[in-house]
Amino acid sequence: MSINNHSISPTKVVRGNRAWNKSLDLITKLCQKPLIIGRSKSTKKIRTSFKKDLLLHGIQSVVSLELDHDCCELDIQNAYLISKQNNCDGIIAAGGGKVLDAGKLIADLLGIKCITVPLSASTCAGWTALSNIYTPDGKFIKDVTLKSCPNLLIFDHTIVRDAPPRTLASGIADAVAKWYESSLTSSTSQDGFVQQAVQMARVLRDQLFLNGYQAFQDPLSHSWEIVAEGCALTAGIIGGLGGAKCRTAAAHPIHNGLTQLAYTNKPLHGELVGFGLLVQLDIEEKNSNSQLPKQAKSQLIDFFSQLNLPISIESICLRNTTPNEINKACKFACNDNSDIHQLPFQINEKDLFESMQSFQSLPTSSKLGVNNT
Ligand SMILES: [Zn+2]
Repeated sequence: MSINNHSISPTKVVRGNRAWNKSLDLITKLCQKPLIIGRSKSTKKIRTSFKKDLLLHGIQSVVSLELDHDCCELDIQNAYLISKQNNCDGIIAAGGGKVLDAGKLIADLLGIKCITVPLSASTCAGWTALSNIYTPDGKFIKDVTLKSCPNLLIFDHTIVRDAPPRTLASGIADAVAKWYESSLTSSTSQDGFVQQAVQMARVLRDQLFLNGYQAFQDPLSHSWEIVAEGCALTAGIIGGLGGAKCRTAAAHPIHNGLTQLAYTNKPLHGELVGFGLLVQLDIEEKNSNSQLPKQAKSQLIDFFSQLNLPISIESICLRNTTPNEINKACKFACNDNSDIHQLPFQINEKDLFESMQSFQSLPTSSKLGVNNT
């Protein structure tokens, strides 16, 4: 067997109600001069209270920085310099996926401690040793593999429960994609780790199907705990255990392609991945004799509709839906280095374009209109 190098999990994971307050001792053991980074105005209050808690808990100094864009080189460079100038010995990234990705990358570049505090369950970025890099206006460029997972992940239910339901729905779409992507690219793998990771993705999908709607409706339910942790934590273990081989098929490359376009209302990561997953199943349907992709597609269209997730080109809020524009996304998704070529069959821009066009408007089978606000 060839050598495989895994970053499976953060060194320590603290989860549950008031997990932040219960982690203060651990944080002081990891660093004394952290840089707290975040981005959205709506969560700034949380970071301000974190700063207060840390200073009251005997941390020497806390520098805070609000990023201007997505996880992009401009923001990374700026945070890197501020961290150096202030001799910071740790990064506390408190926000959504892009903030977590930026924090992990800065800590990795500086070789300092990394603490992730997801403020929603929208992705598993708080867990993984991977950062996605975007342009300042949100176009996907590449992903970077980091030396390790974060030193500490704090998943505070009291805080995450207050995040907009839209972020949970987005996390569900991203996490459910793990099964459909990994089973497609890795079902014939002889590697025990990969086989186990794929099965974990199946169990996670089943839990999301069973509990997703209730979790979306009621953040105080037990279903919410299973679903939020499934999206923000378990999805990360699957990537860590299975490694690059069982990570993506077409849903994520299609997401990467779609980020190249302009939007009237910017979709979240998982919203585009979910749409990419429907397109992936459509391509699978055309490339196999099995009825399974067709059934999975219709099951997911109903499930996503219940969660108000976009299921058509109309509902992802593109500024311009001309064939030329859609083709730009297909071209990017099918570039030579794209993971889309890991599919067990050949795929080109034209096939992808045709599949994507078949999702032009909301299918008549969908129960709900999509409200993307
Ligand atoms: Zn994802």
